[in-house]
Amino acid sequence: MKKKYGSLINGKWVKHKKSFIVQNPYDFSKLADVFDAEADGTLDAIKSANKAFLSWKKTSAEERSKYLKSFHNLVIENKKLLAKTITMECGKPLFESMVEVEYGASFIDWSANQILRSCGKIFESPESSKKMFYIKEPVGVVAAITPWNFPLAMVTRKVCAAIASGCTVILKPSELTPLTALILGELSLKAKFPKGVFNIINGEPKVIGEILCKNSNVKKITFTGSTKVGKLLMKNSSDTVKNISLELGGNAPFIVFEDADLSEALEGLINAKFRNAGQTCISANRIFIHKKISEKFLSLVIKKLKSLKVGNGLLNSDIGPLISKEALSKVNSHILDAKKKGGSIKFGGKLLKPNSLLFKPTVITNVKKDMDIFQKENFSPIVPIILFENDSEVVDMANNTEYGLAAYFFTKNSKRVWETINNLEFGMFGINSGKISSYLNPFGGLNESGIGREGSFQCLEPFLETKFVSWNL
Ligand code: ADP
Repeated sequence: MKKKYGSLINGKWVKHKKSFIVQNPYDFSKLADVFDAEADGTLDAIKSANKAFLSWKKTSAEERSKYLKSFHNLVIENKKLLAKTITMECGKPLFESMVEVEYGASFIDWSANQILRSCGKIFESPESSKKMFYIKEPVGVVAAITPWNFPLAMVTRKVCAAIASGCTVILKPSELTPLTALILGELSLKAKFPKGVFNIINGEPKVIGEILCKNSNVKKITFTGSTKVGKLLMKNSSDTVKNISLELGGNAPFIVFEDADLSEALEGLINAKFRNAGQTCISANRIFIHKKISEKFLSLVIKKLKSLKVGNGLLNSDIGPLISKEALSKVNSHILDAKKKGGSIKFGGKLLKPNSLLFKPTVITNVKKDMDIFQKENFSPIVPIILFENDSEVVDMANNTEYGLAAYFFTKNSKRVWETINNLEFGMFGINSGKISSYLNPFGGLNESGIGREGSFQCLEPFLETKFVSWNL
């Protein structure tokens, strides 16, 4: 890792006037300085991407695929360095970071393969003198704004699908975790990406974000982050009627029906709740347990939580630190609110040690609909428990949110499986499983969880325009 990183603009590392510090959330140690591109650097990156687009869009799918394949190989070769960097800047345990590198790399490979299969369509025309067809073309310069909780995978899922489609990219990673993305930038140079195809800028998000949204040379915004910022990006992009994809917050229900296999449900809960200390948009946020099995399941959960080690992600912990002091104050305020409204802390409920961000896995029972912990994303290792007695009651409670990203449920009854998928208003389901992430998953949600899907067979669609032709022969 370098001590100081610039922006990657037009194939070169560029310095600016201001810089900011990146810290390890485990011990607040300084990891590196990163230059803030500010307005001038942002405009330079747009210029670079715009110029490169003129030639990149004319390359063949095969050529673009080859660049991405060699980028993919370099990411895999540098797996340990990337994983260590992810853990140091975002805190998650090293084994999770290794999984993230593989998951993130799978999007590079998948995009490189999918572009080879991309095609338009020719129709049987209603008039014999006419040919009617459509072709697909890249949308143009893409601005990708990514979050801190998956510093690698959220980058590759967006950037590589865009580049494969023939778009050029300006990436703005989270200011909390820019280092992994910057190492990806170094690898893109090693993979000999042509100048300006992949640009990376960092800095004050408000300044950079506003320019990216309002500049008419940027044709697309692709964003993963909070619903609040997603709404702002939509507003700022409206004057240029920009193409926009948003992957926003979630408030995932995790339902354990009375016929569930409880050891399967426990394993699912650990996966869906404690990955990245509960700081993912698909983390199980509200745990609904059928009354009949609640005591038994709760005792299994608490027994398991006692065995989880909270600590330094580099040293074999199961749960790392929260990302920031702001994240910790949100967690504390959710706990306070829950206690005030009758919630009961059954396990954890506080930091492992003072002046740290190491929050103990926590169980709160007697959770009610009017509590913040029910209504908002907690982004923490808290398990809020709500009991239910029948299917329609739990479906109503689960749907009682403006979000609609992921949902999990556990049952052996196939009729109930089908009905519950139909009745729950969410975009992705884990059934008898707490793991749903894959390059095959059309990742995204309903309602205020966003617009569009990423990854999957549809992964290139957000970065392609359709041109229809009606040709009189
Ligand atoms: P979180 O609350 O999970 O940190 P955010 O939505 O704040 O999520 O951040 C996700 C990404 O959005 C980060 O890259 C961050 O820098 C960026 N961001 C935050 N505020 C703005 C803004 N006003 N305009 C553009 N990007 C922003």
